Amino acid sequence: MAILENVDLQSYNTFGIKVSSKYFTIVHSAREASELFASSLFKNEAHLFLGGGSNLLFTKNYDGLVIKVEINGKKVIAEDEETVSLKVGAGENWHALVMYCVEQNWGGVENLSLIPGSVGAAPIQNIGAYGVEIKKIISSVEAIEISTGLPKVFSNAACQFGYRESIFKQSAKDKFLISSITLTLTKKNHRFNTSYGAIEEVLKQQGVQALTLKSISDAVIHIRSTKLPDPRRIGNAGSFFKNPSIQVDLHDFIKKEYPSLPSYPAAEGMVKIPAAWLIEQCGWKGKTFDKIGVHPQQPLVLVNYGGGEGEKIWELAMDIRDSVKAKFNISLQPEVNVVQ
Ligand SMILES: Cc1cc2nc3c(=O)[nH]c(=O)nc-3n(C[C@H](O)[C@H](O)[C@H](O)COP(=O)(O)OP(=O)(O)OC[C@H]3O[C@@H](n4cnc5c(N)ncnc54)[C@H](O)[C@@H]3O)c2cc1C
Repeated sequence: MAILENVDLQSYNTFGIKVSSKYFTIVHSAREASELFASSLFKNEAHLFLGGGSNLLFTKNYDGLVIKVEINGKKVIAEDEETVSLKVGAGENWHALVMYCVEQNWGGVENLSLIPGSVGAAPIQNIGAYGVEIKKIISSVEAIEISTGLPKVFSNAACQFGYRESIFKQSAKDKFLISSITLTLTKKNHRFNTSYGAIEEVLKQQGVQALTLKSISDAVIHIRSTKLPDPRRIGNAGSFFKNPSIQVDLHDFIKKEYPSLPSYPAAEGMVKIPAAWLIEQCGWKGKTFDKIGVHPQQPLVLVNYGGGEGEKIWELAMDIRDSVKAKFNISLQPEVNVVQ
């Protein structure tokens, strides 16, 4: 396993922030990961696991070891008439996996088309879009424990999935490298989910008569391509903040002054508010500050127009958070992992 020094990370993060890491290596297998964890370099340096870098904001050069996870491969490990269990290496590209499943006519992941990043990072924040979260189809996550170098299997329940949450962001944070995940996908009687967002509308426009996994995937790709900036053209990491859940009382209070306040059902006594709406109300939509800004169509997405600094994007995010707190008494939490 080659250890490189002073590696430029600009092409390894979708914000396109120009920072470097003191050390950089790539792991291709669980065995390589275990060996690395036993090494003195690993023990003496801070470490950061890296997939596609699409949910990360680097605020400065990384003074430690960046470990890019490229554990690849996919394998059917069980199958019956109705379902298939597919084990997939953490380093595989998520969207390529979705395309593969759609081609095989295996259902469950089609609404999650075009989400950037790696398979291994997908369970960490329980990726979700268009009415589906990965927790619905994940049966287990295999990870290598850093302290022992041994594999451990987390069942779906053990992953403690929540909205953009899992045990890997809480008590298991920084203790495991995710090496593979296993998905349970349908081979027939697919449970199509077209209830969310503009999917129905796009299907109608495209003249789709009989639903297929491909028609849903195509519709999601169409909607996402028109709504979200492509990180290959404008640096970004998708939604910067999570949508907050607030008490019904606070919601009712705000609604009196802002009758247009949108909301969605959440846990009992709570409602979810789109963070994008809150940010727009505070006047941030489309604002630019030198090389960075808030996207003109999607205020939840902070952007690097080229040459922007991570530190400045983080300062902007904190200004946005403070203004939302001051105006609505709602605390926004970042969805993006900020490396400080
Ligand atoms: C344009 C755009 C649209 C997006 N849309 C969505 C969306 O609709 N829904 C959604 O949920 N997300 C969305 N995202 C966010 C992002 O794509 C997901 O969070 C994705 O799962 C991140 O994968 P990654 O491999 O790039 O993770 P990275 O950014 O590389 O890493 C994210 C975190 O996981 C850790 N990590 C990565 N790999 C491993 C591993 N193998 N083991 C242990 N820790 C690891 C990293 O240290 C870091 O803390 C979007 C991002 C962009 C840029």
